[in-house]
This record gives sequence, structure tokens and C-alpha cells, in this order.
Amino acid sequence: MAFATDCIHAGQEPDPTTGAVSVPIYQTSTYVQPELGRHKGWEYARTKNPTRSALEASVAALEGGSAGFAFASGMAALDAVLTLVRAGEHLILGHNTYGGTFRLVDKVLSRRGVLYDLVDTSNLDALCGALRPETRMVLVETPTNPVMTLSDISAVAKLCRAQPNVRLVVDNTFLSPALQKPIELGADIVVHSTTKFLNGHSDSVGGVAVVTRPDDAEWIGFVQNAAGAILSPFDSFLILRGIKTLAVRMERHDISGRKVAEHLSRHPRLSLVHYPGLDSHPQNALARRQQKGFGSMIAFETGSYDSAKKFLDTLRIIALAESLGGVESLACHPATMTHASVPAESRKKLGITDGLVRISVGLEDVEDLIAEIDAGLARI
Ligand SMILES: *Cc1c(COP(=O)(O)O)cnc(C)c1O
Repeated sequence: MAFATDCIHAGQEPDPTTGAVSVPIYQTSTYVQPELGRHKGWEYARTKNPTRSALEASVAALEGGSAGFAFASGMAALDAVLTLVRAGEHLILGHNTYGGTFRLVDKVLSRRGVLYDLVDTSNLDALCGALRPETRMVLVETPTNPVMTLSDISAVAKLCRAQPNVRLVVDNTFLSPALQKPIELGADIVVHSTTKFLNGHSDSVGGVAVVTRPDDAEWIGFVQNAAGAILSPFDSFLILRGIKTLAVRMERHDISGRKVAEHLSRHPRLSLVHYPGLDSHPQNALARRQQKGFGSMIAFETGSYDSAKKFLDTLRIIALAESLGGVESLACHPATMTHASVPAESRKKLGITDGLVRISVGLEDVEDLIAEIDAGLARI
């Protein structure tokens, strides 16, 4: 089926008991067993819950994987996936991943004996040089947050395949499967913070891991039950509801994102706009090749902390807040908000200056957004 059809139907079959069109919230901790030694595959709700199973099937279908696993947050999903790397084995982490992912690897996994290197995975030579015999995983975000650097997923997958047993994991939170399908490009595992575009309404925190290999399905399923960082039935319902409109939301996010980015790129007060859809973006050709759209995440350089603050303080429709991917537009100051835990030196290297502002373009009327942005920029 086409993507828009799968958004509404994959995993979301009518309820077998009642025929309910919308997947019910199975708010139960346990299931009655008809007799000792015989049950219907439902024993205890940490292990399996029908609402969660529907979400897992939905996201697995949308990403083109073989199985999905839903967790209480994007970080919990990443934590489960990262258990595939054992003590003494090596992980390559994109040098500009989500701050929480870096913190998990740097502060928690390293204590469990996992070795890691931060590598600019947009540079294939750098990646080649960092792969070691004990490397078991390459974890990539593309585009990166907030400066929108891309990694070539097919090329990275090829390098991983050339070594025995190196999995490529792609965090696809920024584009969603509507605009990028990493598994089709060779990734082994896709991870999402469903908190962002998949749910899309800024009212739930969650995460999903989608796998392709049967051994990974077995292990991640085991960890999900063993460690128990599961997504609740209600959150599963909210995300399923959000996914029904994913195709149309992403289409509009993409259209509005392009309009705002093009407008910003012509603005005389801005020296730099980071958006893969702009001809000026150094990886525009790669973005056109590997993505179905450019999305609605934009960062731009106002020149200084004071200018960024003046701009952000004028906003009314666009909310000053962390997170992204909701129907409502959000703006943030990466240097002091999302990336505050990144050392100043590294921020500088990554282009996360004190004047940088990030916008997640929502689904309001785009002319209203542009008018508000213009009014804000007139103050800097
Ligand atoms: C938000 C985010 C995460 C973490 O997800 P939570 O749901 O907040 O735990 C991971 N990766 C990316 C790219 C994110 O934007």
C-alpha cells in the first residue's frame, strides 16, 4: 500500500472483539487465562499490550522493518538498541547527535565498558578511519540538530556492510518515514523519538525502535520486557492517532518549511540559514537524492546572543520551547537550551553559535509565521 494508506491502516486494524475502528486503549495490567497451561498469547502487560502492539506494527510497516518496539521515551528506545553493543566492543556515534544520546553513551554506556568514538559521519573517510575490528554499531542522525548536516545513508551502510557484524542505526526523528526511509537505504535499525513528528501534537513522550534482523528483534524484544521501559497504552493510543495524519502533516510541514527557509535566506540581516532544501546548502544534492522532502527544521544565524534574545522575546505564535515536530511552531536557542550541556569549545566547532536560533515550523498559516518572524528580525 502507499504510505498515506499505511499511516491510517497498517497495524490499526479494527478491534477483533468489537469491530471498533479506532484501536482501543487496553488499560489493563494482566489477562485472564482460560486454564492452567493455556493462554491466548497475552499474559502480562509489560510483556505485551494490544494498544502498544498496534503502534509497534504501525511504525514497523511505515519504516519498512520487520518488527517495532515502543518505549517510554526516545532515550529508552535508544538505550535498548545500544545494549546490542557489549563491554569491550566499539560504537561509532555521529559527532553531533541529540545531546541526550551523547550523554547516554558518554556517561552510562562508557561505565558499562562500551568503547566509543565521536565521528563526523558526513565525512566517509573519517568514518572509514574510525571503523575497528571490534566496532559493532554506527549510530547516525541525519539531518543533524540544529545545523542540518546530512550523512549519506547508502554510503555509510555500504561501509558498515564491508565489515563483519557492524549494524547501522539511524535516528530518523527529524524527518519521519514520510520524508526519509533509512531501511530502504541500507540501515539495520531505525529509532524515533515519537515525542516529535510521529505523535506530532506535543502531548506525549515516547520512542520506537524498528529492526530488520530476526536476531535483533529477539534481543530488543527481550530487553523491552526484561528492563521494562515500555510505553503506556494511553501514549500508544495518542501516537497511533497522530500517525493517522502523518502523511498530510509532513506534506504541509515540508511546504511551510521551504517557504520560511527561502524567506529567511533572502533576509538582509541573516548571514546564514541552515536548511537542506536551499540551493546554498552544501549537501542540497544529497538531500534531494536521499530524502522525499526537506522537513520543517530550520536554524539561522542572528549574529549574537543579544540579537537571538531580542528575536526570541518578540515571538507570540511561535512558542519559545524545547522539542520539535508538533503542529504548533516552536523556536529555541540551542546554545543555552538544547545544547547547553555540550562544552562551549565543541559547540563552536559544530557551528552552534550564541546567535543561532532554531525553528520547528508548525502547521499554522505560513504567512502569519513569516509576518511574525519578520517583525522579530526587524528588532535585532
Ligand atoms: C528528542 C530526541 C531524542 C530523545 O527523545 P525523547 O523522547 O525526548 O526521550 C532522540 N533523538 C532525537 C533526534 C531527538 O530529537
